[in-house]
Amino acid sequence: MPVRHDQLTQIDSGTYAFMHLPGGWGQTNTGLVVGNDASMVIDTVWDRPRAQANIEAWSSVSDAPITEAVNTHSDGDHWWGNNTLPESARITTSATALIAMKEDTPPGAVGAFAAIGRLARPIPGPAGYLGGYMHQVTGGADLPRRLPRLPDHTFADTEDIEVGGRVARLRNFGPAHTPGDLIVHVHDAGVVFTGDLLFIGATPVIWHGPLENWISAIDHLLQLDAGTYVPGHGPTCGRAEIQLLRDYWVWLSQAGRAQHSAGVTPLAAARTLVRTPEFAPFAQWGSPERIVLNLSTLYRLFEGAEPAPPTFARRAKAFADAGRLQRDMLS
Ligand SMILES: [Zn+2]
Repeated sequence: MPVRHDQLTQIDSGTYAFMHLPGGWGQTNTGLVVGNDASMVIDTVWDRPRAQANIEAWSSVSDAPITEAVNTHSDGDHWWGNNTLPESARITTSATALIAMKEDTPPGAVGAFAAIGRLARPIPGPAGYLGGYMHQVTGGADLPRRLPRLPDHTFADTEDIEVGGRVARLRNFGPAHTPGDLIVHVHDAGVVFTGDLLFIGATPVIWHGPLENWISAIDHLLQLDAGTYVPGHGPTCGRAEIQLLRDYWVWLSQAGRAQHSAGVTPLAAARTLVRTPEFAPFAQWGSPERIVLNLSTLYRLFEGAEPAPPTFARRAKAFADAGRLQRDMLS
């Protein structure tokens, strides 16, 4: 059984996770793999004090210098803390994630939108819903003002990285959640760091697609039959929780397609679907209103659009719908 030290969790003698539970917006898990004379960090978080706490946690359990770091994907909550890494550490991500990191809304702009959102919350209608939801997404995080250090090494599909006599196998399953979503499999420890291909106890979000790639990734994770999976968000898990996530996607793609065929908007579809008995297994997950974000992405895929990162307008509309649905579900 993993030993818990507050949020620092020891998985085996040289493998750690820094958990941020329950795993809501911006509550990102990170990892450390310690070899003989070198170590590897998996993901850095966007809140500056927390990114610093991560680095301090790693130095409290290991003297081995951090020579390697990995960013699982392009969402800011997984790499905007890169400036806390030693300059000598090499940072690896997938080639597709690196492109997205350069093109996504930078942290200064996200921080500005969140501040405007906080002020917009009392406004009736979509602006207020969008503002309130945007404020929740950043959760009061102290974001960096400038774009942090980008990864300096990329790969396409798979890559093995040796770290102090241990091997971390990286595999890119994107585009799925985002344009590039990689996992880190540390075979000798029976551990897989999955990034946001797993949300556990929290509703997943698909921004990019195709969904089929995500389901293939889930099937691969199940086949690995690892002892411990560290999700991007939520507690460590085994196969049962991964299977439940798979069930959510299969259900939502089928039920969502029927709503789409009936000409119902994503928001109206979400309102209907959260009241069906089929939703019950997922109703206790955090942020259930993310169903409408997922429907906004799935709808365009149903219509034959190319999988793509959300435009600012698409994300704003989806966040406004999520804010609206959340207020409906609470009332
Ligand atoms: Zn994330």
